[in-house]
Amino acid sequence: MPKKKPAIDKAAAKEAVLAYCLKKGALAAGVADLEAVNRICPPGHRPADIMPRVKSVIAIGVGGQTQGAWTVPSKALGYFGSTETRAYSISYGLAFYIENKFGIRSIYCPPDMDPDAGPRVPLQSLKVHAELAGIGARSLAGDILLHPEFGYMYFASVFTELELEPDAPMAENPCPAPSCVNMYRSIQRTPCMKFCPVQCLDGEVDEETGKQKVMRYDMAACAEMTQQYETVPSAIMDAIRATDEEDREDALFDPDNKMLWYKMSVGSGGLLAQCFECMRVCPIATQAPQADPILRHEHRLDAEAAE
Ligand code: SF4
Ligand code: SF4
Repeated sequence: MPKKKPAIDKAAAKEAVLAYCLKKGALAAGVADLEAVNRICPPGHRPADIMPRVKSVIAIGVGGQTQGAWTVPSKALGYFGSTETRAYSISYGLAFYIENKFGIRSIYCPPDMDPDAGPRVPLQSLKVHAELAGIGARSLAGDILLHPEFGYMYFASVFTELELEPDAPMAENPCPAPSCVNMYRSIQRTPCMKFCPVQCLDGEVDEETGKQKVMRYDMAACAEMTQQYETVPSAIMDAIRATDEEDREDALFDPDNKMLWYKMSVGSGGLLAQCFECMRVCPIATQAPQADPILRHEHRLDAEAAE
């Protein structure tokens, strides 16, 4: 006979789940309202499409790179700027933790692309989960989520049949920051728009309220610059179509293309990264009170001094 499971106190379970995330290194964690996720995400990309009896969607956010990382040139940052794997390991562990502690099914939500829909469509939107869980708000930088305390984070999700009380999305969006509104008032652009090397960001700020009005993001232009896995087949196609040996050699051994082979052979995340310039100039990403480990160190010292 299957064992009778003890009743679960929803509030205590949520506390235990969030405490696990923070203990393992997340800066923020929350629970998204499943009904809201279902309203926003199209059929085929709702949590129940990969976990039929899902009851809760837990979103986890980890901090971006170190403060020092913002001082290196983008050609170096492209190799190590992203910290999403840390979020993935925490959520992977969380799924095991919930099953082990509560005896209830849980999964690590794959952050990967939908094989039926191609390399631009994720199986699930981790961004929607995090936004609805109240751990990030959409910015003018291509909808990158920003947090007023932790700045720029990376996100991961866990789906579970454990019922948890949902959180609310953030009441206030930290983007645009006051200095960005000032810049917009004088040049009609914010720092992320101005410094994106391929000019794929555009939008409007309401000059009276200082709030976002319109955000435009040319995803294809950003991806061409930053997600080089899509240029691999083009390089191979150019080599196949080349009519003479010299052109074929150019297609394969052109210095840019040689870098692609290098990145593939070492399994570099640089094939999938951002160029980071929009975040390098973003005051929330770089100056939010706990945006990097040095600021968090100072925050701890201040808190200790105040005790
Ligand atoms: S990652 Fe680079 S290319 Fe993409 S929006 Fe940001 S600055 Fe522009
Ligand atoms: S620089 Fe950052 S805060 Fe300013 S508008 Fe862009 S994303 Fe928002």
